[in-house]
Amino acid sequence: MNRKEKDRIKKKLLQEKEEILKKISEFRNEGKEIEPGIAQDVIDKAESSYAKEFLFELSDTEREILIQIDNALEKIEGDDFGICEMCHKEISSKRLNAVPWTPYCIKCQEKLEKKSQ
Ligand SMILES: [Zn+2]
Repeated sequence: MNRKEKDRIKKKLLQEKEEILKKISEFRNEGKEIEPGIAQDVIDKAESSYAKEFLFELSDTEREILIQIDNALEKIEGDDFGICEMCHKEISSKRLNAVPWTPYCIKCQEKLEKKSQ
């Protein structure tokens, strides 16, 4: 994946993250600001009460996506972005465009979904 493509996906990831954070602050609607680094905080220090409170207000899916977005943002600076974490094959660019934060290729994702059913 070239730099240009990575930048485009990075932008998408940041946008999506912002969307989720915005949703929460609207939901709270109490003027409490959500710090930009909060998602990382949540992962780092999930023991703090603010982080717990924050996680509590996310749906399971949003929570999952937020964590995956942060992982993807970290990986995108390195060489292993776009590589499936399970089979270590390249994830198709079509899939990355649709779900840029996914850590898995479509085949592994399907396997996982079958397992959890
Ligand atoms: Zn895979």
